[in-house]
Amino acid sequence: MIRVQGLHKSYGMQQVLKGVDLTLQKGKVLVIIGPSGSGKTTLLRCLNLLEMPDKGSLQLGSVSLIFQEGSKLPTKEVLNLRKQTGMVFQSFNLFPHLTALRNITEAQITVQRRRRNDAEQRARQLLENVGLADKADFYPSNLSGGQQQRVAIARAMAMEPEVMLFDEPTSALDPELVGEVLKVIKQLAAEGMTMVIVTHLMRFAAEVADHVILMDEGLIVEEGPPHDVFHNPKSSRAQQFLNMLAE
Ligand code: ADP
Ligand code: MG
Repeated sequence: MIRVQGLHKSYGMQQVLKGVDLTLQKGKVLVIIGPSGSGKTTLLRCLNLLEMPDKGSLQLGSVSLIFQEGSKLPTKEVLNLRKQTGMVFQSFNLFPHLTALRNITEAQITVQRRRRNDAEQRARQLLENVGLADKADFYPSNLSGGQQQRVAIARAMAMEPEVMLFDEPTSALDPELVGEVLKVIKQLAAEGMTMVIVTHLMRFAAEVADHVILMDEGLIVEEGPPHDVFHNPKSSRAQQFLNMLAE
């Protein structure tokens, strides 16, 4: 479903990803942890080509791409890959001038060419799934952070992605709003959605992840089932990081 091999990405002189390999089967959940600056966001953004990797290969759903420095991929391939991923950002990124409903219908209409009625019907179903059936006509500024993030999840799901990517989806939320967002993500996991989630919430990760990777300085330094990574890490770097999280 997702296969990444030898992924490299630099910004100027700074090497941010130094050869990342990972595989994720359909219906599985991968959690990425690691210190700030280790390249987690860059890796996620490379998975949907918001950032173009310098080197390596990426297979996602039916799309297979090889990256080489100096060569540009055809726009069609890039769009094809992007269509198969849904991204949820730390800061929600809803369109502030559109209601919750229209945040969810816009891309369905403009990108997927769905009829407005169909798009709205789907949007209402998705709002119900995330517990916001009564907020369809609210603007983002009149929704809490937790509600905005749930709209953002519904918006991403409306495109029927093969894979959902979450970049610290609860880190901008007040503590009392974290649970409602985690609940929606757990629900997606239970429905068999393939997901890659960057998070520092270990209890949540242990519950939802099939596989955990720990990144440090652009490399995967530890990986395995959550129990092994959290309770029996092999590398000293992982032990150090987990001790720090536990404090
Ligand atoms: P993480 O999500 O693990 O905190 P990031 O992937 O955001 O890490 O960043 C990894 C490193 O890459 C950091 O040193 C960051 O400053 C740098 N970086 C990230 N994005 C950019 C960018 N667009 N331009 C230049 N440097 C960047
Ligand atoms: Mg980040």
